[in-house]
Amino acid sequence: MNKDRKLIIAGNWKMNKTVAESLDLVRGLKIELANIKEVDIVICPPFTALSEVSKAILDSNIRLGAQNMSEHNVGAYTGEIAAVMLKEFSVRYVILGHSERRQYQKESNELIAKKAAAVHAASLKPIVCVGETLAEREAGKTNQVLETQVRGSLVGLSKDQITESIIAYEPVWAIGTGKTATTEQAQEAHAFIRRVLVSMFDETVARRVRIQYGGSVKPSNARELMSQPDVDGALVGGASLEARSFADIIKNSI
Ligand code: PEP
Repeated sequence: MNKDRKLIIAGNWKMNKTVAESLDLVRGLKIELANIKEVDIVICPPFTALSEVSKAILDSNIRLGAQNMSEHNVGAYTGEIAAVMLKEFSVRYVILGHSERRQYQKESNELIAKKAAAVHAASLKPIVCVGETLAEREAGKTNQVLETQVRGSLVGLSKDQITESIIAYEPVWAIGTGKTATTEQAQEAHAFIRRVLVSMFDETVARRVRIQYGGSVKPSNARELMSQPDVDGALVGGASLEARSFADIIKNSI
């Protein structure tokens, strides 16, 4: 694949997998994915499995991500997890602002921007999710929604920090529904997000930022999606819960 940005494919396990099930999945992934160097491979298990998974992937090409993080460093925030706690398990990436958290936990762009700043302050990399609902797309508001989310969720980041950030374009209507955006829809949205980055930062910075596509990615559609000029990887939900399908997405993307 002739892109100057390295592909990054991450599995978002959401609220799935006990520790034993997580270790089982990791065992399969290590076999399937051994020797793949062309793609940055990330798995994001639930918090409860980070400790054991972290040890299990020590000798592998798989990196660890978390599904959320507090914007605070320490203190009286019941149920929250701080950056320093994630770093104990060698977590490198943190998913922020997933549409499920925007919807169920009412996370705002403002909160996500605070979390992104905290992630960078800890030298971790955020995977910042943005995406429109079906109603917004049908009302012709996709670009407007994406611009508001990108600007609002990344406000305050320096050029160096944005370069180290990953953006995940995840049309809400394609998440867990089996409906994938067409390659044209994905490319169009990714190119638009990159144009927003040009206006927030500059051309050089915008060219460096990796933008993942997420929404019912599977082995059969990965190659076509990844071949788009502005698609730099995938954030995978359902298909990342099984070693063979996640591995095939990665292999088909190279
Ligand atoms: C996701 O939750 O980030 C996602 C893209 O899910 P799925 O692949 O199941 O649509």
